[in-house]
Order: sequence, then structure tokens, then C-alpha cells
Amino acid sequence: MAIATINPVTGETLRTFDALTPREIEHRLQRASDAFAAHRRTGMGERAACMRRAGEILEAEKDRLGRLMTTEMGKTLSAAIAEVKKCAWVCRHYADHAAGMLAPRPVDVGGARGEIHFLPLGAVLAVMPWNFPLWQVFRFAAPGLMAGNVGLLKHASNVPQCALAIEDVFLRAGFAEGVFQTLLVGSDAVGGILDDPRVAAATLTGSTPAGQSVAERAGRNLKKTVLELGGSDPFIVMPSADLDAAARTAAKARCINNGQSCIAAKRFLVHQDVADEFERRFVRAMEALRVGDPMQDGVDIGPLATASIRDEVDEQVRRSVEAGARVLTGGSPMDGPGFFYPPTILADIPESAPAYREEVFGPVALLFRVADLDEAIRLANDSDFGLGSSVWTRDEAERARFIAEIEAGMTFVNAMVSSDPRLPFGGVKQSGYGRELAEFGIHEFVNIKSVWIQDTPPDDHPAAE
Ligand code: NAP
Repeated sequence: MAIATINPVTGETLRTFDALTPREIEHRLQRASDAFAAHRRTGMGERAACMRRAGEILEAEKDRLGRLMTTEMGKTLSAAIAEVKKCAWVCRHYADHAAGMLAPRPVDVGGARGEIHFLPLGAVLAVMPWNFPLWQVFRFAAPGLMAGNVGLLKHASNVPQCALAIEDVFLRAGFAEGVFQTLLVGSDAVGGILDDPRVAAATLTGSTPAGQSVAERAGRNLKKTVLELGGSDPFIVMPSADLDAAARTAAKARCINNGQSCIAAKRFLVHQDVADEFERRFVRAMEALRVGDPMQDGVDIGPLATASIRDEVDEQVRRSVEAGARVLTGGSPMDGPGFFYPPTILADIPESAPAYREEVFGPVALLFRVADLDEAIRLANDSDFGLGSSVWTRDEAERARFIAEIEAGMTFVNAMVSSDPRLPFGGVKQSGYGRELAEFGIHEFVNIKSVWIQDTPPDDHPAAE
């Protein structure tokens, strides 16, 4: 895939970039290694000051950075600006809390001093997707840099200017050269970089096949990975739910980020007692969304990020309709040079339809009717994915069963799934492993070292392991 900025509103190529040569990659890997030697010795106060400055730069430049995202991948400008502000939040969050999260912990071992220390690992390679071009990177980089690691970013090939802008923010924030570097390379260069002994670990956010490929190569090198992969989140509506709130949120939860979010609600499982009414309201809410130029005020949905994503969504919908699914609204790409696809709802989706099992990465909702709680849970779990889930009910017993039995990394009750620096984020099954954000995120890429300090001679030695 060429490394280029292609405006998805017009299909026009605005800028192209050459991939780094092997020599240039080598130079940057060495720079990362040198930078790590110094960065690991910086104090938490110094790191926090730089991270806070990164947050301030983001806040001050949110309009410029937002426009860059909208230009490269088509999200609405208001969503892009909100994303930049969220990145500033995650910078502040880890600037404020990393010292506490990483402070050595005393452990009572009797007769000696036991401690747990959290030490940096080295250079972490981050292979990132285009859908949240800044957020995905900052949610890895803020805890990573605070932990004393250095970052190497291989961003998606269609957001090179965002990738370079992130490196620039960290440099201007005061982090030393080499602490955070963007590598403009294609995915074919990732394997070689993972083999390099100067790279300690890798995190990938993206599709399941990309995750498998990176995990396999990292595994061969015995390097730790965190994988944030695809999802086909269930959104379950039970009879006790506030139907109006559920239907309005359903449209938003499906179409957020032009329908291209890993944690978007994708499968709507609605109890038969409220299915007709929910369907009416949901169709109305989806049809009320305005599709158009994402730079314009009042537009809810911009284009899909690339022509190939638009074509893939079209193909999945067409094949699902051929298999027997019924289109309630939308259902085919919009005319024009851009990569627009309208809000769409499919119902009566047979198991043989691609949409039943595959992730659909566009504003396409899949509507199912369920007879009861057991069927809702069974259908929710009848998926290869296990990222988020949203359940709408006022019944305490139902809520408890959903939380306990849905196979997902996240369950939100009477709310759509979203990420928050204070809560861990990640999935199970084919949605990946490991966690980002909160304390769990910062602990993924550290050496958790056990320390035993014997100040007085022991009477006896503990049993050897
Ligand atoms: P993608 O094709 O997997 O690309 C993601 C990143 O991986 C890009 O940087 C891409 O580089 C790289 N890549 C692709 N194939 C690779 C390979 N074989 N080896 C090494 N690197 C490889 O995913 P996408 O289409 O951009 O993003 C959409 C997917 O990401 C969806 O499945 C979505 O659910 C998932 N996602 C998950 C999360 C989460 O937190 N769980 C968040 C956002 C998105 P190139 O661009 O150069 O190909």
C-alpha cells in the first residue's frame, strides 16, 4: 500500500511519501536504543512535565490536528477535535498517575524486605490503524513513555501526516530525540523490525489477520505483544429498557467515526416484545443522520476512509442480501467521487450471510430478534470476537447475568461502549489480548521485578525454585 494522503471526500491524492530505506530504518533503531539508555534514567517528574506539555500542545493545536485527521481519513471535524482533546486527557492522566502506578510496592515476606519494582523494557513497536489516528497512538505512547520505554510508530499507510505530527508533538513537548519516532514504512517492513534485538516488544491495533502476523513473528522472537483487534459488539435491548434512549444511542453507537470503530455496536439483539417499536425508532434515527463533507458543521457521517473499505462494505452487504438478509434502510454506496456509504440496517440475517460472522467496518447495523435473556446471551457469544458489549435493561438480575456471561472485555449497561483512560480497554477471543489504559495498560510493557533485600542474615533460606 502506498504511503499517501488521499482525501476520502474527493478521492484526490494530496501527498505521497517514500518509505524509509533499510539504512534509514537502521539509523532510527539505533537512535531508539541510544534514547532508551538515557530515557530510562530520567525521573518521573521530568517525564510527567514533558507529558503534560504534550497535552497542552494538543489542546492548543486541536483545530489544526483535527483538520489533519479529517483530511486523511474522513471523520467529522467535530469528532476529530474531540479526539485530540481526549489525547490531551490521556497525557494528563498518565502525567498525574504514572508515578503512583509504577512506585515500588512493599511485600511482607517476613524476615527480609520484599518489593516489586516496575522497570522499562526498551523500544516498543506500535503498529497502528487509521480509524483513530491520534487516539490509538497516544493511548499507547502516554503510559509507555511514562514507564521509561521509547516508542517506534508504524502507522497505517493512509495517515502519514498524522503519524509525523505525533512525533513532532512529543519532540516539542521536550522528550529527547529518539524517545518517540515515526517510521514511515509499509507493513512488509514490520517483520524485520520485530526481529531486531533493539526492539523489545510490540503492540498492534488493527485487524485480526494483521494481529496474527505480528504475534507470530514476535512469538518467534519471544517478544511480548498486546493486540487490540476487531470486534462485532452486541447491543442488547430488553423490554425494561428506555426504548427511546436505546434507539437514539443505537444509531450513534453504530455510526460513530463513520461506522469505523472497533467498539461500535454492530449486532443489535432486541427482545421480541419490543422489537417492532425499537426497529421503527432505530430506522428513523439512522435515516435522520446527515451524510456529507466531514469538514462541514451539522454533518454526522463522512466518507469511509478508503475506496477499498467502501468496496468491502458494499460486497458484504450485497452478499448478505443475496443470502436472504432484508434491507430496512440504506444498502448501497452513494454516488460521487468520495467513498460515501449511507447508514444501513439489515434484518433477517441468516447464518450463511457474511454479515452474520464477519466484522462490517462501516455504518451497517445488523438487527436480530431474540426470544429471551438466554437467547440474547447465546447470540451475543456466537461470535469469534469479544471486544465490547452494551446492554439495555433496568432489571438487576438480567444485568448481573449479562456482566457475568457475555464473552467480552467490556460490558456497558444502558450506555454505549467507549474508552476511558481510567478503565482498562481490550478484548478476548479474536479481539486480541492484553489491556490498554488504566493501571493495566502501563503494566503491560514493564519488567515486573521481584526484589528481596536481606539486611540481616537469614536463619534459614527459602526453598529454591
Ligand atoms: P489493518 O489492515 O490490520 O491495519 C492496521 C495496521 O497494521 C496498519 O498500520 C497496517 O499497515 C498494519 N498491517 C496490516 N497488515 C499487516 C501485517 N501483515 N503485518 C504487519 N502489519 C500489518 O487494519 P485497518 O483496516 O487499518 O483497521 C481496521 C481494523 O482495526 C478493524 O478490524 C478494527 O476493528 C480494528 N481496530 C481495533 C481496535 C481495538 O482497539 N481493538 C481499535 C481500532 C481498530 P498498512 O496501513 O501499511 O497496511
